[in-house]
Amino acid sequence: MAHEHPRWIVLKFGGTSVSSAANWVTIANVVRARIAAGYRPLIVHSALSGVTQGLETLASRALTREHAEVFSDIEARHQSLAAGLGFTRDESEAAIGPDRRELRALVEGVALVNELTPRTRARLLAFGERMATRLGAESLRRAGIPVTWLDARDLLTSVDRGNGSEAAAYLSAECDAAADSALTARLGQLAGVPLTQGFTARNAAGETVVLGRGGSDTAAAYLAGKLSAEHLEIWTDVPGMFTADPRVVPSARLLRQLDYREAQEIATTGSKVLHPRCIPALRERGIPIHVHSTAMPDVEGTVIRRGAAEGPAQLKAISCKKSIVLVSMETVGMWQEVGFLAKAFAAFGRCGLSIDLVSTSETNVTVSLDEEANLLEAGMLERVEDELSKICRVTIIHTCAAVSLVGRRIRGLLYRLGPALQLFEQQRIHLLSQAASDLNLTVVVDEDQADKLVRLLHAQMIAQAGSPDVFGPSWEELQPGALDHST
Ligand code: ADP
Ligand code: ASP
Ligand code: MG
Repeated sequence: MAHEHPRWIVLKFGGTSVSSAANWVTIANVVRARIAAGYRPLIVHSALSGVTQGLETLASRALTREHAEVFSDIEARHQSLAAGLGFTRDESEAAIGPDRRELRALVEGVALVNELTPRTRARLLAFGERMATRLGAESLRRAGIPVTWLDARDLLTSVDRGNGSEAAAYLSAECDAAADSALTARLGQLAGVPLTQGFTARNAAGETVVLGRGGSDTAAAYLAGKLSAEHLEIWTDVPGMFTADPRVVPSARLLRQLDYREAQEIATTGSKVLHPRCIPALRERGIPIHVHSTAMPDVEGTVIRRGAAEGPAQLKAISCKKSIVLVSMETVGMWQEVGFLAKAFAAFGRCGLSIDLVSTSETNVTVSLDEEANLLEAGMLERVEDELSKICRVTIIHTCAAVSLVGRRIRGLLYRLGPALQLFEQQRIHLLSQAASDLNLTVVVDEDQADKLVRLLHAQMIAQAGSPDVFGPSWEELQPGALDHST
């Protein structure tokens, strides 16, 4: 029987994609086209744009009882989509009323007890995806697609890797992507098209956890792994991974194909289009990732798969990661001293801080921390500073950005860096690091210099680059005038 071995694919739609009624027409078309092509799609989607951030603000404002306005704004965003989809007030109330009331009760609870634990923060954040998927499911049903809404917490259980903070276990949880025959069988028996929330899972104790900002990509990847999907489609607001963020560099070129390692490096060095954690889940299994844009559904986009475009040294992208904090450790005693690095790194470990980049000299070790990835809470940096002060002189430099040249065999390209190095003349370079993997070369500069540096490096190192198999049209060519170029 055909449904005994369904050809699963996972379709993930991001915040911008699910926020307008017009995009839901495109989403319905994509789902229909995949069913017609013989696939069984599982739909995973994000909260409406701005809602997760709104929920973060809601949570912190509740502590000072200043949350009413943010609550109304979150409500209005859902109301406006519901109205655009043609729902009456009553229909919209039937779809999201119960969740909205539960959210309100939870926020009032935070205000009352004046306490916000990571556990409660995770519960609050999960409401964005929850409410959005209620509207999404209803919208597809009205378009004639039989949808079964599923609670993501019944599909994904987090695993305790035992190496993070308590906050990370609730707010940056990780799950397993190994083939799951029980889940595959359960979803295989459903009559309709399953649709669920990104970003959300449950822990072993049954509590709600979230997968870190941008984590709907990761949820979709875990599910693609569990279902042994034929591929994962990430639908966002740009048609693929580009040689730089097209919002910063309009001449950025579409990267038509990438292997997992390169895509991983582009994602890890800051290109938001794919969450870095979503790639390892699929890389081991060889499940391809296709990136598409809901705004330009006909553009082919990027395909990430095993062994794509093997070849000589080639620069693929200029990435940028903001909100970087540098910790510089100065000590005269370090030269030839045994164990200084071990002591310093142990201090970061005890404070639950993960280090990104490291650069060392005889008297100085400088490391970078990614503020977002570390969920830096007030007090965490002070704690590490106190501990380190016992063994060296510590300076903390805030608001930095890491700008990376990413590609294969970067060392082989260093000779071409000559003219580009002149760009660094007026820059204050805090740290320079060449990845041991030979896939990136990164400089850390002041955050306000980063976009300019990305544009200049892109113009010098990538603009006219290589083979049409890999480098597709530029963002400008794809959609002239679509983005505000003034930024
Ligand atoms: P979604 O809400 O669909 O998950 P995101 O906002 O997380 O979408 O990611 C898409 C955004 O990633 C784009 O709007 C773009 O500005 C940004 N971006 C950053 N670097 C890149 C890059 N190298 N290629 C494409 N997009 C990038
Ligand atoms: N809604 C979540 C966020 O904004 C997850 C996601 O969209 O990927 O971070
Ligand atoms: Mg995203």
